[in-house]
Amino acid sequence: MTTIKDILADSTAKLSGHSDTARLDAELLVAHVLGMSRSGLIAHHDEQVDPNCIPVIEKLLKRRIDHEPVAYIVGYKEFYGLDFVVTPDVLIPRPETELLVERGLELLEQCEDPLLVLDCGTGSGCLAIVIAKNLSDKKRAYQVYATDISEAALEVARTNAKKHKVNDSIKFIESNWFSSLKNTDKKFDLIVSNPPYVAEGSMDTSPEIKFEPEGALYSGRDGLEALRMIIESVSNYLKPGGTALIEIGSDQGRAVSELAGALDQSCVSYQIKKDLAGHDRMLELLRVAE
Ligand code: GLN
Repeated sequence: MTTIKDILADSTAKLSGHSDTARLDAELLVAHVLGMSRSGLIAHHDEQVDPNCIPVIEKLLKRRIDHEPVAYIVGYKEFYGLDFVVTPDVLIPRPETELLVERGLELLEQCEDPLLVLDCGTGSGCLAIVIAKNLSDKKRAYQVYATDISEAALEVARTNAKKHKVNDSIKFIESNWFSSLKNTDKKFDLIVSNPPYVAEGSMDTSPEIKFEPEGALYSGRDGLEALRMIIESVSNYLKPGGTALIEIGSDQGRAVSELAGALDQSCVSYQIKKDLAGHDRMLELLRVAE
């Protein structure tokens, strides 16, 4: 007879050497198969595991050993306290991207209703949805727009918006960055974007990344193609006094400063901000009030 405690120990042992987070991965996978929460596993660790579940757990461990990210195996990932459905059509939300939410919500405190927010390249929808949910909770009047070039990604984002009950306040639009907004006069209080910024052919990537959509990760030989495009045109879509928050790679602070520094400095001002690990992570670009 196998208890939950036994299966956790056994699964962790099987994953160690294959994952840096073997225990956490084991808990997430076992919890998923048993239909329990991680804390539930610990609370019930002396209980027997249904023998039918053991081969299912074994299968998932094998996928993890083959480097498939846990988020794709279980089909969801937590971001800013909410669970998001993820499939291989979307990038798995990263904790460092929460910086854009924190700063974005802080900036929106200073803006007047009705607020207009854009998430450019929304993927799973995590940025748009977390921001929308927070604004709803604060009873603000707002509309969020979320664009993506991938219809498959937008499907996932729509599913997530429904799951978190903000589908009525987010408009999802298929768009190559700003292309679908070009002929509108929409100007936003806040624009957030986590574009692809990894250099093509970069060796500096984990085997897990091979499971993620290339279009969400790679951007030209220097990793700056999307950032260049976004930085050049983003201020056209900001209200005076509005801000764009754009995620960047930890080694791109200098290159991104140069791109933003080449803009007309009587119209914009900018800063590079660091994440909690102390790495350059975000361009904050303000359209100067007229
Ligand atoms: N931060 C991600 C990584 O390190 C890249 C995400 C992105 O390109 N936006 O893999």
